[in-house]
Amino acid sequence: MNFKSFLLFLLAIQAIHSQENLAKQFESIESKVIEWRRDFHQHPELSNREFETSKKIAEHLKSLGLEVQTGIAHTGVVGVLKGNKPGKVIALRADMDALPVTERNNLPFKSEAKTTFLETETGVMHACGHDTHIAILMGVAEILAQNKDKINGTVKFIFQPAEEGPPPGEEGGAKLMIKEGVLENPKVDAIFGLHIRSDYEIGTIHYKKEGIMAAVERFVINVKGKQTHGGRPWQGVDPILISAKIIDGLQTIISRESKLVDEAAVITVGKITSGTRFNIIPERAELIGTVRTLNPEMKEKIIRRMTEMTETIAKAYGGEATIEFQNNTAITFNDPSLVDQMLPSLQKVAGIENVRLRKATTGGEDFSFYQEKVPGFFFFLGGMTPNTTEAFPHHTPDFMIDENGLLLGVKALTQITFDYLNN
Ligand SMILES: [Zn+2]
Ligand SMILES: [Zn+2]
Repeated sequence: MNFKSFLLFLLAIQAIHSQENLAKQFESIESKVIEWRRDFHQHPELSNREFETSKKIAEHLKSLGLEVQTGIAHTGVVGVLKGNKPGKVIALRADMDALPVTERNNLPFKSEAKTTFLETETGVMHACGHDTHIAILMGVAEILAQNKDKINGTVKFIFQPAEEGPPPGEEGGAKLMIKEGVLENPKVDAIFGLHIRSDYEIGTIHYKKEGIMAAVERFVINVKGKQTHGGRPWQGVDPILISAKIIDGLQTIISRESKLVDEAAVITVGKITSGTRFNIIPERAELIGTVRTLNPEMKEKIIRRMTEMTETIAKAYGGEATIEFQNNTAITFNDPSLVDQMLPSLQKVAGIENVRLRKATTGGEDFSFYQEKVPGFFFFLGGMTPNTTEAFPHHTPDFMIDENGLLLGVKALTQITFDYLNN
């Protein structure tokens, strides 16, 4: 063996050693992650009210020697881990809020929390699995802190409140985190996040390039007619008839004008308010609904066409109508080259056959706002016990996660961090 091959041999031995070390660290973190998750599950807190949750997170990050900032966007926590050598900055994000749902199961760590939400008595439950996201990211922080000598660059751990949306009248969530500077100082180069799924088998990861979750807009249409006697419609303008024509017109934007073979799109009118009694044609009608889009060009076109349809249809029947849009989430848009770059990391930890390409979903996720600012990759993590016949959906009282799926989440984000910063 010459000197050069001897050096290579030493490096190989070292690599095997650190792999073995890492494997041991993963093994010992699993029970901690499950314990943390159970604690968060039993003590859920609603959006913008994650006070105890964020305290526990901050304590953990401080104990690992990270620089910790608290109180961002109300209850947000950011921990910064600097590697031994300078380099890029990666951000890993977990959301922390629970939902006004009353838990219905016999788990020993079932939530008994109660609150009043919008004047209604309700239970509080981690019914979307954000408890698992917190625990996973705390585990990743612990492992990376133990290995910081092997990291070139900086890791930012972002624990974000109010993903489900802040209470009425309050700001919150990813939008407010960004406004308060979480992507700056140090400036983030790429961001990663995951969402547990109650309907995907444990051990699997599901991803898609470009739009994976929808941009969610809420819209309000105001139709103005002319009030008259219900028996003499020719003396007025009927806003209820105009509303029906508008709804019909809006649906043709999806069915006749949108290239649905490229991406899905949805328009739903969810609420109509008009009128007082059977023999009066009223003055006004209000329509409230939602638009879901997955492609930036389609989104732009659908919104433009909805505006044109609404205004011109009302005009055609002698009335007037306006439409206003309120953006709730952007498109959760996975940067294609970042996905290409990081896919091998996911395959390494899950096995190639367990990293699966999926179709988009028309649900929304406020992780999308980070992706509007920096390249990002958001994927789904399996949380369902294999061969389950009925997986209860997210946001329901029977929602259930198999904790055996959590370690893969820790491994995935850890591997992504090593590979993104060191290669
Ligand atoms: Zn949710
Ligand atoms: Zn969620």
